[in-house]
Amino acid sequence: MSGVEITIEKLDKSFGTLQVLENIDLHVGAGEFLAIVGKSGCGKSTLLRTIAGLESVSGGDISFNSIPVKGVQDTTRMMFQDARLLPWKDVLTNVRVGNSDRAKAEAALSNVGLLDKSDEWPGVLSGGQKQRVSLARALAGDPKLILFDEPLGALDALTRIEMQQLIEELWKQQGFTSILVTHDVGEAIILADRVILIEDGGIALDVRVDLPRPRARDSKFTEYETMIL
Ligand code: ADP
Ligand code: MG
Repeated sequence: MSGVEITIEKLDKSFGTLQVLENIDLHVGAGEFLAIVGKSGCGKSTLLRTIAGLESVSGGDISFNSIPVKGVQDTTRMMFQDARLLPWKDVLTNVRVGNSDRAKAEAALSNVGLLDKSDEWPGVLSGGQKQRVSLARALAGDPKLILFDEPLGALDALTRIEMQQLIEELWKQQGFTSILVTHDVGEAIILADRVILIEDGGIALDVRVDLPRPRARDSKFTEYETMIL
């Protein structure tokens, strides 16, 4: 299984008279893990939504594997800060939303360690477990691209580290291309091969992270560290 290769050329995106993104050129390799950082309101979510096909472009082109794309692709999945689970459907049914195959949904739940919660209502899960279900829902679609819009932003520090480990592990195992928007530069460096900074509508910095993996730290170690600090 491999991830999609993304080529963005001369991308402009405006809302009315507000130009949010201007003349963006960006190439993301198949299976690459890219992080996007930048101040609130700089256009990170807009860039993700545009790549997802949820927003139309005002100018320029987006291609997946050299084929120009318009609209939502069924191998693209997103994760948000809130898990966006349907409260009146059990966990397994939530994972099957947009992915009808039961066996795949169960395999995805097992991959995030929550197969035993299949019959639970989302309301009884912790914030971290809800995000695991949301990740399982993304995985069950056999994604070639996952767009993460600050998915760990609302979690406590230890749960965030566990989720970072899980995301790193599953990305390595399954090979989907990942684009992560985060406020946390440390998280960007832990997870990504490459970090870009968006400023004034453009890419102000584009740096490669050349550190050995795995990088997400062992949560028990951090727990111990927290105790002695
Ligand atoms: P970020 O995710 O970096 O915080 P956003 O991409 O959400 O920033 O927003 C970038 C800018 O575009 C902001 O000024 C925001 O108010 C504006 N914006 C985002 N979505 C819309 C929309 N649907 N209509 C009008 N303005 C929008
Ligand atoms: Mg945003």
